[in-house]
Amino acid sequence: MDRPEPGSVEDLATLAKLDDNILLDELRVRYNKNLIYTYVGDILIAVNPFRDLDIYGTEESQKYYLEKKSSNPPHIFAISDAAYQCITGYGGRTPTNQCILISGESGAGKTESTKLIIKQLIELCRSNTQLEQQILQVNPLLEAFGNAQTSMNNNSSRFGKYIQLAFRNGHVIGAKISEYLLERSRLVRQNPGEENFHIFYYMFAGLTTEYQQRFHLQKPENYRYLSNGASCLKNEKKSLKGNYEDLRNSLDLVGFTDEEQENMFNMIAAVLNLGNVQFGMDDDEASFVEDDNSFIKVASALLGIPTEEVAGTLTSIVTYTRGEEVKRNYTQQQAQDARDAIAKAIYGRMFGWIVNKINQLLAPPEYTEQGDRREIGILDIFGFEHFEKNSFEQACINLANEQLQFFFNQHVFRLEQEEYTKEGIDWKEIKFVDNQPLLDLFLAKPIGILSLLDEESQFPKATDATFVDKLNKHFGKNSYYGKSQQTKSSKFTISHYAGKVTYDASEWLEKNRDSLPAGLQEMLQGSTNDLAKLIFRAQITRTGTLALQSRKSRHTRKSKRPSVDGGRKRKQTVGGQFKNSLQILMERMTSATPIFVRCLKPNHVKSPGKFDSDYIKQQLLYTGMLETTKIRREGFAVRPTFPEFVDKYKIIVCKASLPGTKENCLTILKASKITGWQLGKTKVFLKYYHIEQLADIFKLMG
Ligand code: ADP
Ligand code: MG
Repeated sequence: MDRPEPGSVEDLATLAKLDDNILLDELRVRYNKNLIYTYVGDILIAVNPFRDLDIYGTEESQKYYLEKKSSNPPHIFAISDAAYQCITGYGGRTPTNQCILISGESGAGKTESTKLIIKQLIELCRSNTQLEQQILQVNPLLEAFGNAQTSMNNNSSRFGKYIQLAFRNGHVIGAKISEYLLERSRLVRQNPGEENFHIFYYMFAGLTTEYQQRFHLQKPENYRYLSNGASCLKNEKKSLKGNYEDLRNSLDLVGFTDEEQENMFNMIAAVLNLGNVQFGMDDDEASFVEDDNSFIKVASALLGIPTEEVAGTLTSIVTYTRGEEVKRNYTQQQAQDARDAIAKAIYGRMFGWIVNKINQLLAPPEYTEQGDRREIGILDIFGFEHFEKNSFEQACINLANEQLQFFFNQHVFRLEQEEYTKEGIDWKEIKFVDNQPLLDLFLAKPIGILSLLDEESQFPKATDATFVDKLNKHFGKNSYYGKSQQTKSSKFTISHYAGKVTYDASEWLEKNRDSLPAGLQEMLQGSTNDLAKLIFRAQITRTGTLALQSRKSRHTRKSKRPSVDGGRKRKQTVGGQFKNSLQILMERMTSATPIFVRCLKPNHVKSPGKFDSDYIKQQLLYTGMLETTKIRREGFAVRPTFPEFVDKYKIIVCKASLPGTKENCLTILKASKITGWQLGKTKVFLKYYHIEQLADIFKLMG
């Protein structure tokens, strides 16, 4: 068979001849014609154009409204349309919850895709409500506080998120956001060429002089936490000011009060000033605040706490031994660490509070009956990360990607092929790379990387070195684990599905414990800043989110003794929280119908029109795209049981009722004249395109 003109095929699963190079070729030719979207059956591939394309306007939006997928070119809006048709039960479908999973490397276009999907979903509702406008503002709002410029992406999400949109009768009735692992370390340190979270730059560009004075703000260059990125302010001042105004707009629209907004900026200014506090050390190695520029005075005024108290928390720890108060001074280094830890804790808690607040404001009404309520979830997590130095954060991020890849494999390959065998249909097995062993390596109990880390985190005497020793001992023979060649090294290597990553275990124990800096919680309880008080009164749930307490319980929880975090009660570790939230996510995904979007990054330099074939090929390889294309071409994506099939399509043979038998399925299939299906023992095996064909016939009949 002749190969069609390269680039003309919109669904690669329809190609008769297929290998890695053909796949690559098709994508390249299409990309060079600005055709960035391509289907592989029901999966959408999106190659980042790195330029604004005129394909997201009203005209496109109308085109992808309750349409058949094949009647328009591949598009991200078609994903919204497909999900929307599924939750509303359009065209005779059974309404089911949907879950859109967007994957790809950092800078591949996941977040932009998420925004486009949501924008189109709102269009599809055709209702124009205030809630819809609020939902559209959520992303820009979160991005201001959680995104930053990195070497990979000028607007890189430094947290993962799962957005759930709740619908009833085809209209949005609420939204909920789950947030994963904000990269708090960025607040106090950024790699060369990278920046802090956007909010800082917006604030300097946009705050009125009056507010700059109220918050005692100096020039951005004067702040240590901004010293890397401050230079950018000069060039971009104009657009940054616009960004600030957009943000204030979003905050207003979503429903943050003026007072809450002021409190937020107040806290951010406090964090910045805190970062500039310097320390000296006396002959007894006791640190003291050495602060000619009164940064500590400004910080404590903004936090609403007496300066001496802040100075005390920065330079010493108070413990209680048999009822006696014992004060121990920090060394200079410890004081610096405490300062940064406090700043990170405040910022992290504030971010958690913002998410929590959004969820309160956009929550769907509780009285909605479960019956006609459906949901579309959209997952935009951090892509696979592989830096020069990889720490605990990268391990968590890469674990999440392993989990997602596993889910993809489960869905696309394993379960499907197991069913073919069980149902005895004619099938030649398609091999895929199973990453179950990697999940086990991380998640198994009691011998998995996270469990071992938790175990070590409970031992006061454990160190990063004893942790790595344990890993080496337990996984020395595991083929996915590589011990460092050097003795006494804190490094180890994991062979991920997307490549080998060498991790450095330094600070893992501390990062995993994530104890609140000593004395911080108690100190902020006395604050005159409502927000500061509130966020440190909140409990952290088992998935690491902030749970704001009700007024009543606040007053009952009054203890004088500082409850040094992790003191008596065993606190959930960061690894543990992450594991829990991954598990909840997997449960949600498993109970919904998944839709996959694969974002590909065409080059390392964020440039339009550059298709780096080797780089794309690498991404196609590790995501198993060739195998995916094969199974989508040859496999049976839709598998209703006999009664389900008969019930849905009996109209094709003009019957109002018909027993759900194999024979009757056969009659309907023959009458429909579609080809390529198979009948198993209990189910009909249909190709993904059959559904549209049947829906067409259905519409003609109905
Ligand atoms: P990720 O979330 O995968 O890290 P982003 O979605 O933030 O990546 O995309 C990175 C950048 O690429 C964006 O800031 C934007 O400049 C560009 N980009 C991504 N998708 C598109 C698109 N569909 N059209 C135009 N530019 C895009
Ligand atoms: Mg992103």
